[in-house]
Amino acid sequence: MDIYVIDVEGGNSVLFVPPSGESVLIDTGNVAPGNVRDAGRILAAAKDAGITRIDHLIITHWHGDHFGGLTELAKLIPIKQFIDHGPNVQPGPVPDEFVQKTYPALYADATHRVVKPGDTIPVAGLNWVVVSSAGEVLKTPFRGEGKHNPYCASYKPGENNAEDPQSVGSYITFGKFRTVHLGDLTKNKEFELMCPNNPIGTVDLLLGLHHGVSSSNSPVIVYALHPRVAIINNGTRKGGDPETMQTIHSSPGLEDLWQMHFSLLSGQEYTTPGMFIANTIDDQQPSMPIQPMEAPTPGPGAPPAPQHNGTAYWIKVSAQQGGAFTVTNARNGFSKTYQSGE
Ligand SMILES: [Zn+2]
Ligand SMILES: [Zn+2]
Repeated sequence: MDIYVIDVEGGNSVLFVPPSGESVLIDTGNVAPGNVRDAGRILAAAKDAGITRIDHLIITHWHGDHFGGLTELAKLIPIKQFIDHGPNVQPGPVPDEFVQKTYPALYADATHRVVKPGDTIPVAGLNWVVVSSAGEVLKTPFRGEGKHNPYCASYKPGENNAEDPQSVGSYITFGKFRTVHLGDLTKNKEFELMCPNNPIGTVDLLLGLHHGVSSSNSPVIVYALHPRVAIINNGTRKGGDPETMQTIHSSPGLEDLWQMHFSLLSGQEYTTPGMFIANTIDDQQPSMPIQPMEAPTPGPGAPPAPQHNGTAYWIKVSAQQGGAFTVTNARNGFSKTYQSGE
C-alpha cells in the first residue's frame, strides 16, 4: 500500500492506495486562491499512484484547511463516495455556505455517508475502522485490546474550538501494518478515546497529529499508541511548537519524526533533522535559529507566515503486508525502511 502525505501548506490531505487500487483520500487541502493549488497537488499524487478516481473521500471536519480544495478537486477527478461526521457545528459564513449549498451538489452523483465510531469503511485489501466522529469516540475495544493506559494519570486538559473535536478519526490496517489518522482531534477527545483504557493498541505509523499543534498530541494518545514513525502535516508556522515536539521526541519506541514543512516554531532546539522534512520556505535564512519562534497572536495584526511557492513535495509511505514500511522524502530522495517488528 502506498500512502501519500501531500503538502497543502499546513492543511491536511493524505491519499491511501492499496494494491487493489481502491483509493481513500482523507481531506482535500487548504483554502488557497481559487483553491486550485491544493487540488493540483492532490491530483499529482493520484497520477503518481496510477489511479483515475477517488473511491472514498473522508472530510474529517468542516475547517477550511481540510475541505478547502474540494470544489476544485471534484472537477479534476471523479469522487465516488463522500464521508463526513455530519453538519458543521462551528458557525461561519464559509463552511456554512459550503456544507449547505456546495457540498450536496458535489455528492449528488455519488454516495454520501455520515459515519460514527465503530463503523467500517469497506476498502478492498484494507481494514478501515472509524474511531471518532461527531464528538463521539470508540467505546468497544478492538479484539485483544482495552488494556489500562498508564498515561491517563498525568493528563492535562486542553483548549479547543467546536469543529476539531468532531473529527472523523480512522484506524487502518494492511496485513500487519497499522496506522492511525485522527484529523484534528483535540486533547480532550484524545482523553475520552484513550482513557482509562486504550481501545486501539499500538500502531506502526501515526499520521497527521493535527498539524503538530499543542491543542492535540497529549501523551495519552502519542505515548500509548507507541508509533515507530510519526508524520506531521504542519505548516511553515503552524505546528511543531516546543510542547508538541517534546511529546513526540520523547514518545517511547519512536524511531523517527517526519514533517511536511520546516516550522519556525521549532527552532533548532526542537526541530527534526532537515532530511526528514519535505518542504522548505522561499526565503531561506542563512541558518536556523536555535530558539523556537513564539507563534504570533492570531488575527488581522499577525505577520504573514513564510511563503512556500516552489515545488510542493510529498512524503510517501510504502507499506508491506508483513508490517515493514519505507518512508521517502520526495524533496531530497532520502528514504528509510522500518523492518517488521514481529
Ligand atoms: Zn509547502
Ligand atoms: Zn486543521
